[in-house]
Amino acid sequence: MEAMALHLACLRGMCKCGKLAHAMASRGSFGKEIIEGLKPAFNLVYPPRCASCGCSIAEHGALCSDCWGELEFPGTVEKSDASTGERHAGIIAATLYNDMSRSLLLKFKHGGKLSLAPILGRMIASRIHDEEDELPLIIPVPLHRTRIWQRGFNQSAMLAREVVKAGRGELLVDGLVRIKRTRSLGDLPSATRHEILMGAIAVRKGAHDVVKERSVILIDDVLTSGATSTACVDALLYAGADNVRIACFARAARASTRI
Ligand SMILES: [Zn+2]
Repeated sequence: MEAMALHLACLRGMCKCGKLAHAMASRGSFGKEIIEGLKPAFNLVYPPRCASCGCSIAEHGALCSDCWGELEFPGTVEKSDASTGERHAGIIAATLYNDMSRSLLLKFKHGGKLSLAPILGRMIASRIHDEEDELPLIIPVPLHRTRIWQRGFNQSAMLAREVVKAGRGELLVDGLVRIKRTRSLGDLPSATRHEILMGAIAVRKGAHDVVKERSVILIDDVLTSGATSTACVDALLYAGADNVRIACFARAARASTRI
């Protein structure tokens, strides 16, 4: 048992044993081969289960075919509507908001199931297709610090990390800050939400130079009326960002949607 613990620590690059085999296992293809070799034993102890319903599946960190089949996917990237004053450069949504995407978000955000972050983040990443040489900056929608203390994490930041792990951009996790705590906006009309959020979000002091003239992808878990994302987009453009797209896990049609 001790040997196995040591070896797993090596695989994670944390073991200080100094053994060559362990050091090699922590990186490169040799390490990957060992991880692959250990998978059957790991799966025996921890059988892969659907991240939503918990039924048995073949691989860890995935959904079963039934749950996957209940998700709805948008056709194309949603363009901004200049007539309504939108200033973003497009909305990239992994799914359309429905019962299944809502259930996944509730488990992730309020149910403590943080293990959903990789699958939700990968689904967002799979919708981002950039052909330019320079990777975009990936910036999550910020939470006020008191909300982070209450919840313990920023769900958008966790999704942003997964998008970056998938190679879709460079992470600037604290590029935006929420300087004013606002009440829950779920039950308010769109115009009121925009009014409340005015001046509530800004680019962090010191991040202006990083953001300037860059393409930015703003990461949110669910996009509803767009009041929060609009405040973020305005702050980023004001700081000199070249363009800002919004990427979310679920795109809701109804402004009153509340997660
Ligand atoms: Zn399932």
